[in-house]
Amino acid sequence: MNQFVPYFLGEQAAPWPRAADTQKCIRAGGKHNDLEDVGFDTYHHTFFEMLGNWSFNDYFKPEAIAWAWELLTTVWGLPKERLYATVYQPGEGDPADFDQEAYDHWKAIFEKEGLDPAIHIRSGNKKDNFWMMGDTGPCGPCSELHIDLTPAGDTKGELVNADSPYCIEIWNLVFIQFNAEPGGAFKPLKAKHVDTGMGFERVAGIIATTKNFTDYTQPPSNYNSDLFQDIFSHISNMSGRSYGATMPNNRDDLSGEELNDVIFRVLADHIRTLSFSIADGILPSNEGRNYTLRRILRRAVMFGKRIDLKPGFFTKLVDPLVDKMGGFFPELEEQRDVIRKVIASEEKAFDRTIDRGLQLLDKITYQSGGNISGEEAFELYSTYGFPFDLTQLIARERGLSIDEAGFQRCVKQHAETGRAGHVSTEISVVEEEKLHHTQFSGFNQDDLTGFNTELIGYFGGEETDFLITTQSPFYAEMGGQKGDKGTIVLSDGTMIEVLDTVKDNVGHHLHVVARDPALKGHVGEAVTMHVDVERRRAIQRHHSATHLLNWALRETLGDHVRQAGSLVATDHLRFDFDHFEAMTPAEIERVERMVNQQIIANGGVNWFEVPFQDKPEDVIATFGEKYGAVVRVVDIGGYSKELCGGTHVGATGELGLFKIKNESAIAAGRRRIEAVCGESAFEMATQNFAELHHMASKLSCKPAEIEDRLTKLLDHSKDLEKKLRAMEQKQAQSQGGDLLSTAVEKDGIKWLAGQVSAANPNDMRGLAVDLQKKLGPSVVVLGGVFGDKVTVLALATPEAITAGHKAGDIIRNLTAKLGGKGGGKPDFAMGGGSDAAALKGALAEVVT
Ligand code: ATP
Ligand code: MG
Repeated sequence: MNQFVPYFLGEQAAPWPRAADTQKCIRAGGKHNDLEDVGFDTYHHTFFEMLGNWSFNDYFKPEAIAWAWELLTTVWGLPKERLYATVYQPGEGDPADFDQEAYDHWKAIFEKEGLDPAIHIRSGNKKDNFWMMGDTGPCGPCSELHIDLTPAGDTKGELVNADSPYCIEIWNLVFIQFNAEPGGAFKPLKAKHVDTGMGFERVAGIIATTKNFTDYTQPPSNYNSDLFQDIFSHISNMSGRSYGATMPNNRDDLSGEELNDVIFRVLADHIRTLSFSIADGILPSNEGRNYTLRRILRRAVMFGKRIDLKPGFFTKLVDPLVDKMGGFFPELEEQRDVIRKVIASEEKAFDRTIDRGLQLLDKITYQSGGNISGEEAFELYSTYGFPFDLTQLIARERGLSIDEAGFQRCVKQHAETGRAGHVSTEISVVEEEKLHHTQFSGFNQDDLTGFNTELIGYFGGEETDFLITTQSPFYAEMGGQKGDKGTIVLSDGTMIEVLDTVKDNVGHHLHVVARDPALKGHVGEAVTMHVDVERRRAIQRHHSATHLLNWALRETLGDHVRQAGSLVATDHLRFDFDHFEAMTPAEIERVERMVNQQIIANGGVNWFEVPFQDKPEDVIATFGEKYGAVVRVVDIGGYSKELCGGTHVGATGELGLFKIKNESAIAAGRRRIEAVCGESAFEMATQNFAELHHMASKLSCKPAEIEDRLTKLLDHSKDLEKKLRAMEQKQAQSQGGDLLSTAVEKDGIKWLAGQVSAANPNDMRGLAVDLQKKLGPSVVVLGGVFGDKVTVLALATPEAITAGHKAGDIIRNLTAKLGGKGGGKPDFAMGGGSDAAALKGALAEVVT
């Protein structure tokens, strides 16, 4: 509904007076969070479709109420006597008055149907009957419709809003009349609106459970609708289990069957949330709503493990879902591959650590008296990828307590140590009234040098000082773009070097200069500023290159590519983005090619400022970034548009050449590209050429022949290795032959012990196995010197073990004599020591 807010507030005219839609809703974080209930009840999902109709200053309560009743009872045939309506009755301290208007309309309807309004109309306070999208924003009283699903349907409204699965809310009619302002005031809106929301899965579930309102013997459940059936069959096929439709009696003490059914519901719900979100370009990651998605996925993986589903099972649920819903939501069909790959890579990442995390939890459960400390929860979170709420869920199930405050302390501490690694200049400012934020005048080339302004502030820092001017052509580090360097010339001709430019929390550009308290005396004087233009141009080449790269990545990999971090320096750029797998060499080449084609095309780079709401529709804004009322759009050639406060080249030709240096993973689902353009790209190419020529001369060939030459060399060396192996094996065999003749018989068992020379311990083991085969019932003990270590191993056949000769014991004795340690199983054991000189004698003792 976010996009409608400006219509409700009267900030924009609505393009239509009414609308009807299905909204993709996720309630797994923030003000509306149903995650904890999902799976444990049968009517809350993390993702659901909310069907709604809207009036923008058009119809109001009479129509909304009459039409809702008509749709439910006449069109769909819901039994009238099982329906209950609620109206707003403020409690103490709640805003506005009793919603008499809604009450009167409902009263008329129920009377007409021969139903007692005193029973069928219930009232609720702000908690249930006053709808708010958040703490602020458009809001108003609402009227909900609830349905009694008990077998007899005779609860007389007592279960309304009582958290019973037998009486659930299906539709909420919200009458938007107020705006909740920061500070807590509710201001009446000039115009009145309607926003209704019906749970599609709930209605579908009720129709399915009651077989079209004919049978109320089964417990109601959204999961009975065919929206979930195909996913359930897939889970059944994979797990060999079936869904039993039980509901938990007590969620802290589930029976096996109840847990089974909870898991079916969790998986079927969560795969929808993940798939729909990814299709809309929201990928699991580390912050904000992206982390919510990762948490949901990990919750699913953890539950799946409980019914022994194999790693990768969750990914397998994508197809049945997309097959079912892709016809209605084409984005699912279009993004099918992306969804599958994202989930697969997330699942894999968590699968790598989940077992060890669960082991740690087992240890805590059985060893530390059942309390999870803050440090342990943090270790689970940071090392094993257990979101805190997942640990909480497991703790709750196992009856463990968990130290949430301690966990939060660890998170904070960790963030602080992380930050300490960065060089950051914290500057506290300033007499705010006197000094307004610095006006940046350095977008245009012509203003970069010989710029006249006034020095209006000086601050002495610990290691450097800071100068402030009224205006400045120096870019202050922001949005990844490095700050400018250059010089400031005082009115007496003194030239001061600017080492860096940073921004403070008010918006001053702080020109970082060497410590010199005498500078204070110059405040108030006129100064001339000169930016190091060469340096700045190198930086802005990399900044424009970053925009081109962003564009080419989206064209090549898809619109889910989202900037997650960026650094723009003189000699390179770094760009972090969300993508689920490593780029292929072909993809990297395509991206480079696209960028270079645009460089050659030499398109113009334009920038302009517009009010945020008037920004072009296709402009890329970085999610999570806070933008002011007026934003700056950087448009390169019409194909790349981004909101950006940085500085750029005038035309793409200035970039010269663009090359990607490398592409790598920095976290699950997050990639990093480092690239160069301009002079740095030339330097890199030159160096690569030089290296190539150097290699060619080493190989005595032309650069073009290097590959051929190397292939031949590698083949040759493989050949040699093969020959060497063959010789070693031959030698080992002849050793084996020699050794066999030394075997002696004791207690009906052959004993053989000797020193061998083998390429490695593994080969020695092969030789021992060989000898054992030839000897039959036997004990074989071999030793060898490998580098400065001695390795010994023993093999004992079952007959030898029965006779009391265990490999483990033999090795333990033997290694003790070699100044080392070892042991193992009765049939095979290995060990090592350091005393090579003692080996021969020790082995001889084995057979005597
Ligand atoms: P409840 O009290 O049952 O959680 P709600 O008051 O949070 O419902 P609204 O915010 O009024 O619900 O949302 C409108 C409609 O959307 C509800 O009447 C219901 O049918 C549906 N709905 C709300 N939350 C969920 C959910 N988590 N899963 C499925 N449907 C939901
Ligand atoms: Mg709710």
